[in-house]
Amino acid sequence: MKPFNYQLKILGVVDMGYTDEYGLREIVEKSSEIIADQEAVKEKQLFDSFMREVSTNGLALYGPIEIKRALDARQVEKLLVTQGLELFYVKLKCNSCNKEEEKLVEKIGEESCSCGGKLVVTKDENVVAELVEEAERQGVPIEYLSQDTSEGAQFYGTFRGLGAFLRYK
Ligand SMILES: [Zn+2]
Repeated sequence: MKPFNYQLKILGVVDMGYTDEYGLREIVEKSSEIIADQEAVKEKQLFDSFMREVSTNGLALYGPIEIKRALDARQVEKLLVTQGLELFYVKLKCNSCNKEEEKLVEKIGEESCSCGGKLVVTKDENVVAELVEEAERQGVPIEYLSQDTSEGAQFYGTFRGLGAFLRYK
């Protein structure tokens, strides 16, 4: 019971109406509400400070290539990732006109070419896994944002669910 009591003390005071089993259940329900609220507050703070840095051209950046470059240069202080994010860098080649294309997608699959041929995947990289692995290897903290809050949804919508705070520029 120790960590539970600890969180209660830190996050808020739960009104204990009853001390029987029903009362205990009530405490558990109320405290999980408090913890969920706390997660939302944390997400908002993270997003707000990320936006502040990005909009002032400060110590934050976005875009998988930019983040990878900053990681390689040991500049990243914290990595921000949308929970459950899937992002792949793919190379496609048309089996008819041989046109080649490179892009970021959330799902790997064949597409049709403007010539009527098929764009076949010739290379794919799991962008999120690569960034997360590199951050973990360097001991860079990773914060996962949900899409349940408006800030979390905005982070996913605006920055494709990836961002980084920098230690320096
Ligand atoms: Zn084609």
